[in-house]
Amino acid sequence: MKISDETIDRVKSAGSVVFFSGAGISAESGIPIFRGKDGIWNKLKPEELANFDAFLRNPQMVWEWYEHRKKIILESKPNSAHLAIAEMQNFISNVIVITQNIDNLHKRAGSKIVYELHGNIERNYCIKCHTMYNREIEFIDGIPKCKCGGLIRPDIVWFGEFLPQDQFNASEKASGECDVFFIIGTSAVVYPAASLIYTAKAGKAYLIEVNIESTEISHIVNESYFGQAGEVLPEILEKIKN
Ligand code: NAD
Repeated sequence: MKISDETIDRVKSAGSVVFFSGAGISAESGIPIFRGKDGIWNKLKPEELANFDAFLRNPQMVWEWYEHRKKIILESKPNSAHLAIAEMQNFISNVIVITQNIDNLHKRAGSKIVYELHGNIERNYCIKCHTMYNREIEFIDGIPKCKCGGLIRPDIVWFGEFLPQDQFNASEKASGECDVFFIIGTSAVVYPAASLIYTAKAGKAYLIEVNIESTEISHIVNESYFGQAGEVLPEILEKIKN
């Protein structure tokens, strides 16, 4: 893939660079995406499981789906795209990751500033008393319960729920102020997360998309690299180093 001089100059001279990521960045780690040509939405409908009403109706079924996804995620590793972004911290002054992913792979790769818009599958909390639980939850008849008797749920933003205010506010500020805004492996159709792309564009950011195919926002970005994130980002990193 030919990386343009403009991309490298912009990144090298930037005061801050944001990497906005979606499920596609983790596809090469073996975690299925939702949409796109290999998306699991072709097979089942996460919006029917990932919502609070479904959880109250049938917590056991919702937990089965999350335990299945958690197993895949915990067995996977950050790939060369996550690692390249983390390594860029050594060469660019202010690297900020904003992710829609719940898989924790950016932090595991070593990225220091990571705003999680949709939660994190490694965390859980009680819907009654809000006690946080990490991995130490115990299942009885397929359902984990809190000491207070309340149901424990994954700390994930479900359909119809608000994003964590602190994470979204910090993301809006970073997007509005950055010089370069990368959009990696996202179909850019999930709102309000996707609105950050327009916030960055309304600011001073140069927009660079990395995706295997064109998306809803391809026509508004400054440059698009159509290829696997795990190949394109290491190439950009190499050019920045030299
Ligand atoms: P999406 O599934 O809607 O879109 C994925 C995008 O990634 C597509 O545009 C696809 O073309 C692209 N893509 C696939 N493989 C790629 C690769 N190797 N390199 C570059 N691009 C690639 O994902 P989304 O936009 O993030 O929205 C889905 C929602 O589902 C998010 O809110 C997220 O929370 C959740 N989700 C998370 C994970 C995860 O944590 N890994 C996985 C699936 C879904």
